[in-house]
Amino acid sequence: MEKLLADRTRQIDASGIRKVFALAEKLKDPVNFSIGQPDFDVPDELKEEAIKAIKAGQNKYSQTAGEEALKEKIAERIKKEIGWERSAVLVTSGVSGGLLLAFMALINPGDEVIIPDPYFVIYKHLVNMLGGKCVFVDSYPSFQLPLEKIRRAVTDKTKLIIINSPSNPTGVVYSEERIKAVAKIAAKKKIIVLSDEIYEKFCYEGDCPSIANYYERVLLLRGFSKSYAMSGWRLGYAAVNETLKNVIEEMTKIQQYTFVCAPSPFQKAAMAALDYDVSSFVAAYRKKRDLIYEGLKDKFELVRPGGAFYVFVKSPAKTATEFVEKAIANNVLIIPGNVFSEKDTHFRISYATSDEKIKRGIEILRRLA
Ligand code: PMP
Repeated sequence: MEKLLADRTRQIDASGIRKVFALAEKLKDPVNFSIGQPDFDVPDELKEEAIKAIKAGQNKYSQTAGEEALKEKIAERIKKEIGWERSAVLVTSGVSGGLLLAFMALINPGDEVIIPDPYFVIYKHLVNMLGGKCVFVDSYPSFQLPLEKIRRAVTDKTKLIIINSPSNPTGVVYSEERIKAVAKIAAKKKIIVLSDEIYEKFCYEGDCPSIANYYERVLLLRGFSKSYAMSGWRLGYAAVNETLKNVIEEMTKIQQYTFVCAPSPFQKAAMAALDYDVSSFVAAYRKKRDLIYEGLKDKFELVRPGGAFYVFVKSPAKTATEFVEKAIANNVLIIPGNVFSEKDTHFRISYATSDEKIKRGIEILRRLA
């Protein structure tokens, strides 16, 4: 078996999450705080757009970089929100697809990638798989951008800084002040910042600042999976300012020989999604955020999240894995922090579930604290 498989397979460890799912299978009607996607369905209007596109025969490959009309609409939106007069856009198979293409286009073996810890787990495994080196900068306990550590982590080999706000797994929104400071650090050595903004809509205290507003060398990744609950439709996009357009060109080349294109009938629905107002969903999720935070704050140590649908809570047991096992034995599914971190001190709750389940989960977790 060892000889059969490529060496890179040994760099990937999916055991943490798999263990939780294996345990979950045995539970009856658990409180499932482990899921990383919204609990609402795709709005009917957007489903209709996808059905219409399929019936009208839009079932073939699209252009490699995506339907022209969709790319133009995305570029318009970016011009309005970010102020980039001209941008280059690539429609991807989810943000995950965008991440793989970005890393393939940018990372040479030995290149260093600065990643605030905790992090979205894909970053680590893809960077490792490509022979890059993850340089983690600890952001505990506030989970804000650790500026001094980022500054010290920069070397001549630094290729990329990854930021993700609102963040998975912490729900923290990076402050404008810190984002500007990271832009300054990156600008000194012209380092590209990859900004994963997949949770941009789930923003509970005003707007979530984007580093693209303060820095030109940003590779912006945004998606449709979370905002419109289309995680199965596999749609996202990558965008850069004109100055970095060769990055998008190279990513497009690699898309041509890997994903070929993003799912084409759904690209039509994505056009409509860009005009769809999700503020009522966001308002409901803000209430869920309040429910979970208020329900746990006197018994657990946790930072009040400003976005996404996660809270990252300090484990009352010595290790998070220990506490997670106890929670699962009591019918609550949570994910141990070591899945998203070099530490195992916290656990992630996804509160993308019904209010009734959230209340039940709070009650059980409080008992176990
Ligand atoms: N980035 C972050 C931070 C995420 O949490 C996720 C989904 N869990 C993704 C990217 C990938 O999402 P998708 O591929 O469905 O767009």
